[in-house]
Amino acid sequence: MLLRIFSLYLQQTIKPMPRNKRQRKVISPPRFKGFKPYGCSKNKQSPVELLYEEYEAIKLADYKLMNHQEASILMGISRATFARIYEKARRKIAHALVETREITTNTGNSYSDKTWFLCQLCHSRFTIPQKIKEHKCPLCQSNTIENIL
Ligand SMILES: [Zn+2]
Repeated sequence: MLLRIFSLYLQQTIKPMPRNKRQRKVISPPRFKGFKPYGCSKNKQSPVELLYEEYEAIKLADYKLMNHQEASILMGISRATFARIYEKARRKIAHALVETREITTNTGNSYSDKTWFLCQLCHSRFTIPQKIKEHKCPLCQSNTIENIL
C-alpha cells in the first residue's frame, strides 16, 4: 500500500523531462536580425522565424557549395539531420518569398566555439578573445553590447 501511494506520488510530481535537443554548431551567427520585403503591400502575417542552424545550413550548402556530408561534419550532426535542417530552411525561405513575409532569426538549438556579441550602436557582430577583459565594441568602442550566441 505504501509503495502504491509512493508510486502515485512520483507519477504526480515527476514530470517527463523535455527532450534534450542536440545542439548544432554554427561557425558564426547571421549578420542580420531579419529581412523585410519591399515594393509590395504590407503583409500582416507573422514573420518566418529562421533558426541560426537553418541559416548555417543554407550558408554551407548554397553559398559555400559544400555537400551535405561535409556540412554535417562542420555542424557536428548526422548527414540525415543536416538534410532535414536544410530542407526546413529552404521551405521557410520559400514561404517568406512567396507570401512576402518578413524573416526573423533566432538562436534555435545552436552553439558556437566562440562567444558572439552584437553592438547595439553600430550593429556589428564580433567575438572577444578571452585575454581581453574589457567588453566593448572593437569598431565604435561602445559598451552597449549584447551576447547573441
Ligand atoms: Zn559598435
